[in-house]
Amino acid sequence: MKIAPYNFTALHDEQYRREYLSRVEEILKNNSFIEGPYNESFEKEFANAHGVSHCLLVANGTDALEISLKVLGVQPGDLVGVPGITFYATAEAVLNIGAKPVLIDIDEATGLMCLNSLKEVHQNHPLKAIIPVHIYGLPVSMEGINSFCSSEKIAVIEDAAQAHGALYPYNKKPVGHGNNLTTFSFYPTKNLSAHGDAGCILTNDDELARKIIIERNHGRTDEQALGRNSRCDHMQAAALHLKLKNVDKYNQRRKELAKRYHQNLKELSISLIPDEYLELSSWHLYPVQLETSEKRVELAHFLKERGIGSMPFYEKSLQQEPPLAHFPGQYEKANAMAGKRLCLPLHPFLSDEEVDEVSAVVKEFLNL
Ligand SMILES: *Cc1c(COP(=O)(O)O)cnc(C)c1O
Repeated sequence: MKIAPYNFTALHDEQYRREYLSRVEEILKNNSFIEGPYNESFEKEFANAHGVSHCLLVANGTDALEISLKVLGVQPGDLVGVPGITFYATAEAVLNIGAKPVLIDIDEATGLMCLNSLKEVHQNHPLKAIIPVHIYGLPVSMEGINSFCSSEKIAVIEDAAQAHGALYPYNKKPVGHGNNLTTFSFYPTKNLSAHGDAGCILTNDDELARKIIIERNHGRTDEQALGRNSRCDHMQAAALHLKLKNVDKYNQRRKELAKRYHQNLKELSISLIPDEYLELSSWHLYPVQLETSEKRVELAHFLKERGIGSMPFYEKSLQQEPPLAHFPGQYEKANAMAGKRLCLPLHPFLSDEEVDEVSAVVKEFLNL
């Protein structure tokens, strides 16, 4: 049996294709290529689903981060805290606006930004902003981070590229609810996905929303500001709007499957995400952690021989990426975790039996 990490054929099934293609017909008939009615409907519904006043679609998740940094007033040379374990784009956005990343260490059990490390790093490297990342779909507990940052006047942008539908541990509200800017990516592999690139920013702040609208469309306004092109095209918005109605159902199925893995694997000599995240994560990915990175490579190979795909996220910490190696901060725990995690197949179209089979192969490997 072949088990792949994604199943786009099932995601874009007959019914979906029929509905999407009729939207494409309509868009071609109306010549409404950019920022059309589906952009507006999606923005309204996605904002409502998160209980915030604005959702602004942009061209991709990295632009969403860059634009957020810019509208918050982060200037070239400013210091921006990023967690040691994340997808590279989080730090790339900081570098692209000319600001300087500072590494914040992670919590060993989750891989999420650690509040104590944030406090220590800020003492020596005064931060203008931070970007906590809800990596793998695991929600960062924002309560402590928010209160520290508001007393220290540090701007907060939440990178929720992997966390559509994840719930904050302290109030069980969806990630993106609240007063921070929160960015999403709709890259094709994410929990909510376009057929190409797209992203968005959530905010409760009318003035920031106005600035984002100006920035994403060449700075066009009476003031003639300088912006960029980061519009989301209408075909992507039409897909996102159509897929929005299934995202909760699919996330629910991801959760069931994650619980099944957890049940199957919990007695084995392998580290899992702590139990309390079972109900809270969006389960974008299902990471397990091996004792060494050599073991992780061996397990990936063992799975592959049985036709099972897996993903080594994240093989390197940010500090181990050459363009970031010389930036300051704390990264001991991030470096210790890097390379040890392997993400097992997890998507809403896996069967219970497939999860059991992957689990059995992992068990066999560990008992060798
Ligand atoms: C996917 C991703 C991004 C970047 O999104 P793009 O749409 O590819 O630009 C940023 N941060 C994280 C954590 C991601 O997973």
